Amino acid sequence: MAGKNVVVIGGGFGGAAVAIKARALLAGEHSVTLVDRNRKTFLCGMNPLLIVGQREVERCSRSLGVLVNRGINFVQAEVSGIDYAGRIVNTSGGALEYDYLVIAAGAEYDWDRVPGSAAAYSFYNIDTARRLRRRLSRMKRGRIAIGVASVPYKCPPAPYETAMMMDWWFRERGIRADIEIEVATPEPGPMPVAGPEAMAVIRRALDRKGIELKTEAPVTEVAADGRVVQYGNGDSSDVDVAVTIPHHVVAELVRGSSLVGESGWVKVDPKTLETAEAGVYAIGDVNAVPMANGRGVPKAGVFASAEGETVGHNIAAAINGTEAMDFPGEGYCFIGFSADVSASVTGHFTAEGKPDVRMTPPSARGMRAKERFESDWKRFRI
Ligand SMILES: Cc1cc2nc3c(=O)[nH]c(=O)nc-3n(C[C@H](O)[C@H](O)[C@H](O)COP(=O)(O)OP(=O)(O)OC[C@H]3O[C@@H](n4cnc5c(N)ncnc54)[C@H](O)[C@@H]3O)c2cc1C
Repeated sequence: MAGKNVVVIGGGFGGAAVAIKARALLAGEHSVTLVDRNRKTFLCGMNPLLIVGQREVERCSRSLGVLVNRGINFVQAEVSGIDYAGRIVNTSGGALEYDYLVIAAGAEYDWDRVPGSAAAYSFYNIDTARRLRRRLSRMKRGRIAIGVASVPYKCPPAPYETAMMMDWWFRERGIRADIEIEVATPEPGPMPVAGPEAMAVIRRALDRKGIELKTEAPVTEVAADGRVVQYGNGDSSDVDVAVTIPHHVVAELVRGSSLVGESGWVKVDPKTLETAEAGVYAIGDVNAVPMANGRGVPKAGVFASAEGETVGHNIAAAINGTEAMDFPGEGYCFIGFSADVSASVTGHFTAEGKPDVRMTPPSARGMRAKERFESDWKRFRI
């Protein structure tokens, strides 16, 4: 059999997982090529700890260059377009022919859709997280608002975890009494995907820590040079530090293309992650895998990675003539309650009827599991 070309666009959680899996299962005559505009990627899951000085950037980054040691061709280039009929990926470094293509290009942020965001802070990428860290380290008193613009957004626990990390850190510094923290969500409560019991646990934790929760309150504007936050329910807050979680949009590479469904994300078969184009898969944040409640599976690295393993397996199965598998739809997300304890939300998100998800109680053991996740990520084990 002639060697097949597997091309993967994007080297985040999903892209790295699919490339590693396919490479491990395929003979050397077949090529696996991973393209990303960046050589280095960052573990944003650690940003809530990074902004309170508990992580350094180096510990939260990994280089895609090392994948060549596993037999994967890494190409650092911008992908400008895909010719599905000709089976070609066009990049700033030249054209790549494919037999199987995996789009793992993630979600992007539309900062401008919340007017005034330029005067606000965020922690949704490494640069904004570093800037917020500098601001928080200088803070001695005042009010912080963390506001979510819309759903879906990456990592449903992140706003609550971040509020609780701030609470912990200001207590450590002995200035908590002088700092007010609020967290606002467009949803009816914190993390509805985790179910009513988990919502109640998070509500109680926020309450005990003196963190104000605003619900059904999407952030719609940051006014007065970052000093006023406006919410979609008519409410507003005077603040010293406005922190926004921006609107998320599908990667520009596929935006407006026929692959994108009504949800605004790439439409895929929920079991195989195949798109409408032959031999083309989409995994991770770029897609919407429907759950029984009509929403997409949360945008989280663990799902991107599990989808990558499924597709890597299935591409190898198609080439090797072995049995394919279905995406199991299981996963977990950590939610740190302080720098010392973490809970996790875990379960079968694509279960029939409704997502079968529960939250473990916050514990030191949970934080150790979160740290293991971090070191596994660093070594490309996830
Ligand atoms: C604050 C925060 C906390 C989080 N916490 C957690 C957590 O605790 N656990 C968890 O599981 N997840 C967490 N997440 C979510 C997780 O980071 C994402 O869900 C995950 O990164 C998605 O992986 P992906 O492979 O789909 O996309 P990405 O990781 O976004 O990777 C996409 C890649 O595609 C590349 N790319 C895009 N377009 C092009 C192009 N045209 N040409 C070349 N390259 C391109 C990009 O450079 C990028 O490297 C968190 C996210 C944030 C922001």
